[in-house]
Amino acid sequence: MIAKVLLNNKEQNIDKSFDYCVPDFLSEKAAVGMRVRVPFGFRNNLVEGIIIDLPEKSEFENLKEIKSLIGTEPVCSPEILKLCLWISEKYFCSLYQAIKLTTPPGLASGVSEKTVKYANLAISQTEAFEVKEKLRVSGAVARARIIEALLMTDNIPLSKLVKERGGTYDAIKALEKLGYITIESERIERAAYCEEKYEKTVAYTPTEEQKTVIDYLNTAIDAGRNEKILLRGVTGSGKTEVFLQAIERVMGKGKNAIMLVPEISLTPQMVQRFVGRFGNKVAVIHSALSQGERFDQWNKIKRGEVRVVVGARSAIFAPLQNIGIIILDEEHENSYKSETSPRYHTIDVAEKIAEDKKAVLLLASATPSVSEYYNANNGKYTLFEMKNRYNEGRLPEVSIVDMRGELFQNKNNSPLSLKLQSEIRKNLENKEKTILFLNRRGYSTFVSCRECGEVINCPDCSIAMTYHKKRETLSCHYCGYTIPNVTSCPACGSKHVKYFGTGTQKIEEELKRLFPTAGVLRMDTDTTSQKGGHEKILDMFKNEDADILLGTQMVTKGLDFHEVTLVGVLAADTALAVDDFRANERSFSLFTQVCGRAGRGEKAGRAIIQTYQPFNATIKYAQNHDYEAFYKNEIIQRKRLNYPPFCDIICIMATGEDLEEVKTFCEEIGSKIKKSKFYGNEIFAMIGPDAAPIEKIRNNYRYRILLKCKNEEKIHPLLREVYEEHEKSRKKTFLSIDTNPINMF
Ligand code: ADP
Ligand code: ZN
Ligand code: ZN
Repeated sequence: MIAKVLLNNKEQNIDKSFDYCVPDFLSEKAAVGMRVRVPFGFRNNLVEGIIIDLPEKSEFENLKEIKSLIGTEPVCSPEILKLCLWISEKYFCSLYQAIKLTTPPGLASGVSEKTVKYANLAISQTEAFEVKEKLRVSGAVARARIIEALLMTDNIPLSKLVKERGGTYDAIKALEKLGYITIESERIERAAYCEEKYEKTVAYTPTEEQKTVIDYLNTAIDAGRNEKILLRGVTGSGKTEVFLQAIERVMGKGKNAIMLVPEISLTPQMVQRFVGRFGNKVAVIHSALSQGERFDQWNKIKRGEVRVVVGARSAIFAPLQNIGIIILDEEHENSYKSETSPRYHTIDVAEKIAEDKKAVLLLASATPSVSEYYNANNGKYTLFEMKNRYNEGRLPEVSIVDMRGELFQNKNNSPLSLKLQSEIRKNLENKEKTILFLNRRGYSTFVSCRECGEVINCPDCSIAMTYHKKRETLSCHYCGYTIPNVTSCPACGSKHVKYFGTGTQKIEEELKRLFPTAGVLRMDTDTTSQKGGHEKILDMFKNEDADILLGTQMVTKGLDFHEVTLVGVLAADTALAVDDFRANERSFSLFTQVCGRAGRGEKAGRAIIQTYQPFNATIKYAQNHDYEAFYKNEIIQRKRLNYPPFCDIICIMATGEDLEEVKTFCEEIGSKIKKSKFYGNEIFAMIGPDAAPIEKIRNNYRYRILLKCKNEEKIHPLLREVYEEHEKSRKKTFLSIDTNPINMF
């Protein structure tokens, strides 16, 4: 027997397979997806690989033998392996990076923990600042990041410190040993949810609008046909009920379902609706699970005990067999695109799986992405629309407040307009709830000196630091770098340091000043990093006498509180001002989503959008809840300026600590592209090589090339060449190639 083995090469992220003989004593256990150790090179060093095929014969002679197997079972099924090979080719990564997506963390080490661990500072704030500066100077970046995170928030789960704050488990251990931090454990319930907690529900009788979609879905499901459907349904039109009934049908056919939602809307409320309907047949996968919980869920799915997987982006890779439907709710959400390698888009992966398995792909949104809506209008998806709220519920009345008049006409310099203040007051009197949205955490957005104009920037990133009043710190929202607040200008020594812009902390203070008896809850990264933070705040908003929920993006999605009758968008302009061709699309969707939180119960809702550009078209469309008019206008602009869906934008980014090396490398790629046959043909515009808008993040310089081309697939071979050349050369400079990236900074 022959085995094609793909080697795991740590230096090069390109895969090459080699043929090996399978010795008799291994022939029974050798299988596709099995990890192996094989001799390689002149010296026959043992390297790790994975079996990707077991052909009868090889075209080569004198093959070496596989030395041993690693583990007792294949790491993935032949099917998943195929998917991973597709991902590695398409998204410029190694097979190993792709396989990592499909295996729960800690699989190799064997997970058994039944506790969640939390960290806290064991030293004073002043000491902590000193310690972490010393750590930074000595190059212990991971340790410094951990202390910085704990300077901002108490009680952070270790998994968060590692996954989101740039720490490592080794660094945590070291800090604990040195006495800088303490770690506490808490026993956890190993079930990801407790079924008894959830009220059982059964299918509702569908409305006419729902019935049309459900009937169509049922036909496709019964026929076992690959169908691609885009459902546009206004907020509260009952999309979720459509999902539930389609999943029920799929289960009736003996098949299984994947239900994806953006991480941010994976709230207990959301989970409740699926567990309420399908009980313990549901597995829920989200980032707050501990390694052990994740591992348990993964195994349950693998053993076939689960019929429905509900989860964020990564759940598309769950080892679910026999998939009958894949649903992506809020398909326009950025979080469906991975911004780290492998830089996949979940819609593409879902589409691929649905095609291979002859399953139904259902995308849904109140505000579909312009590209997918265009695709639907051009036959890629069957389009369905639900234009009414369930039970004739009215969409909220949206009014626009012109903030230019606040200071001069109304003599009001509060970030809350008089109109919004009076509406909040009404709500407090009527014991109705209010949600306020502001897209900026912290207290102010930047700090600068009134005398010399110096803006206080992060030393590692080329961006301004944010003032956090609660802890009297300045913090970089890109890398987490944190310092004590300054009282004098670091450049000229002047005492006149001023805080500009408005963050959630400042609004919280303002609300307390204006409405001293109101219950105000703030929900942003700073308040939700603590253990159970997110859930705790939402529970309080629901149950106790909290009146106002103030927050960042976190308050805009998925919340279904019937008592909320007023929504305020505090600074519409920050969303519109982003320098990206998708700014209008994102703003429209954001305003629609957040306004859609109001009036979901018996009482009608109202929303207020504060802006300095009251005549902005996007704001007007959002005010009128008019997606179609928005889309018609937007697609004309996209066509005129040649933006997606009329082209693909490819971002080739070089990053590294050595500025000259980064620059030179990026320029080399630029000239290679210019010389290629695609340049001037398929590639019709090239911007750069040039410094990225944010030139430095975490001490890494960033140079990039933006390509506009008709279709990424056409120039894929050229991009592969660039990628493979880089991987072979082992430069200290990193390279990433990203098609239609979310962030253009
Ligand atoms: P969407 O997902 O489109 O925002 P939801 O599915 O949350 O809308 O529906 C809004 C509300 O209407 C929910 O409280 C839901 O339970 C209710 N609802 C939806 N469809 C029906 C139906 N056919 N019969 C009764 N209630 C329904
Ligand atoms: Zn100064
Ligand atoms: Zn920074």
